Amino acid sequence: FTRAEMELNDSIREVISLVEHTFSLNKVWIRSDFDANIPPIEADKERLKQVWMNLFNNAFDAIGEDGFIFVRTKLCAHRRRVVVTVADTGPGIGEDDLDKIFDPFFSTKPVGKGTGLGLSVTFGIIKDHGGRINALSPAPNEYMPSEMEEQIQIGAGTVFIIELPVVDDVL
Ligand code: ADP
Ligand code: MG
Repeated sequence: FTRAEMELNDSIREVISLVEHTFSLNKVWIRSDFDANIPPIEADKERLKQVWMNLFNNAFDAIGEDGFIFVRTKLCAHRRRVVVTVADTGPGIGEDDLDKIFDPFFSTKPVGKGTGLGLSVTFGIIKDHGGRINALSPAPNEYMPSEMEEQIQIGAGTVFIIELPVVDDVL
């Protein structure tokens, strides 16, 4: 696939602007905290946007109505990595399902609503970029701003943690 230097934060911002109006109709609000010091990363921008789209849509489906999605980017300079976290105030993922969510065709959604391919595609895209993706549920408070902590029910919420390498000679 086609890689080029790109701004990670911009790719996320573009996807937020595509979905935020629709989400707001269900009172699902996206909050973000972008690290301004992230150097360009080498990536396929369209495929990375697909990743953010899949994660936001899953968070939206999980919340249904009335909740928050929190996305944060952070540079870990010493590890030459950027970390993106996408947390939501949805009901979370049960322990049994957590092992399966990245499997192709695993879905808990009604037929016609979910194909179960979103996260397996997402996993592949991140892997192709030399990165990693993990899910934690319930979402630990450290991945949420305090306004979201109040919304979240004990033992609920999900956070996806994505690590991507930054372009080597930039740091
Ligand atoms: P689909 O969205 O088509 O069901 P995905 O691969 O995107 O397929 O997700 C697989 C399953 O993982 C979902 O059906 C759902 O059970 C679970 N899941 C993914 N993201 C979340 C989330 N943010 N909160 C709760 N469950 C989730
Ligand atoms: Mg999905």
